[in-house]
Amino acid sequence: MGSMTTTYGTLNGKVALVTGGSRGIGAATALRLAREGADVAVTYVRGKEAAEDVVRAVEALGRRAVGLRADSADAAEAAGAVDRTAEALGGIDVLVNNAGVGVLGPLDELSLADVDRVLAVNVRGVFLASRAAAARMRAGGRIITIGSCMTQRVPGPGGVLYTTSKSALVGLTKALARELGARGITANIVHPGPIDTDMNPADGRFAAGQAAMTAVGRFGEVGEVADMVAYLAGAEYVTGAEFSVDGGHAA
Ligand code: NDP
Repeated sequence: MGSMTTTYGTLNGKVALVTGGSRGIGAATALRLAREGADVAVTYVRGKEAAEDVVRAVEALGRRAVGLRADSADAAEAAGAVDRTAEALGGIDVLVNNAGVGVLGPLDELSLADVDRVLAVNVRGVFLASRAAAARMRAGGRIITIGSCMTQRVPGPGGVLYTTSKSALVGLTKALARELGARGITANIVHPGPIDTDMNPADGRFAAGQAAMTAVGRFGEVGEVADMVAYLAGAEYVTGAEFSVDGGHAA
C-alpha cells in the first residue's frame, strides 16, 4: 500500500457505496476506493463516530464522502442507502456489499431470531441493495460482495447459519452477473479468510486455530481484502466469479 495521501485515479469520477464501512474490512475498502479516486458513501448502524472518521479520512484524500445510518436488516433502509448515496453524490457506480454479522454456534442452539437476523443482514439486505443499485447503474457498474472462506471450506462445527447465509451470496453473485452482463454491469464475490477485525480479532479465542488452517499460517489484514475489491472495481471482463483472499484457507 502506498502512503495515505497517494491516489491512483482508476476510479476518478466514480461513486461507491460501502455498506458497513465504519470499521474493519468496510472502512479499509472505503479508503482504498477513495485512493483510486472514487467519492464514497459508507453505512453504519452503531458506529456514528467511526463512520465520521472514515468520512474525514476520505475527504483528506480530496474526495467527497458521506456517512449514512442504514441498518441492512431493515428492508427499506438497505435499499434506501443506495438512493441516498445517489442523491448525495450524484449516482452510484460501485456497490460493495460488506455489512455482515457473524453468528456462530451449534445447530441446536441457534434461535429463530438468530436465523432471521443473519439472513436479513447477510442475504436479504444484500439482495435489496444490489437490486436498488442495479436499477441506477449505467454501463461500468460494479457489484462486489463480501462472502466468506467458509463457503469454500467449513473448518469445523458451529458454522451452519453463517455459512448458509454467505453461500447464498455466491448464487446471488452468479445470477446477478447473468442478469446484468448485457448492460455492462459486473458482479463478483470476494471470500476473505481470517482477517483481523473487531469481528474476528487476531488475538481472539479461536484465532490460533484459524491461522493454522491457512497455508501461510497467519491472519490477513483488512487492506489485503480492500486491494481485491479495488481491482474488481476497475475490471471489465471479470464477472460472476469468486475470489479468495484467504491465505490458502481453501487449499
Ligand atoms: P466488523 O464486525 O469488524 O465490522 C462490521 C461493519 O459492518 C461495521 O462497520 C458495522 O457497523 C457494519 N454493520 C454490522 N451490522 C450492520 C447492519 N445490520 N447494517 C449496516 N451495517 C452493519 O466486520 P468485518 O470487517 O470483519 O467483516 C466485514 C465483512 O467481511 C462481513 O460481511 C463479514 O461477514 C465478512 N468476513 C469477515 C471475516 C473476518 O475474518 N473478519 C472473514 C470472512 C468474511 P457498526 O459500526 O454500526 O457496528
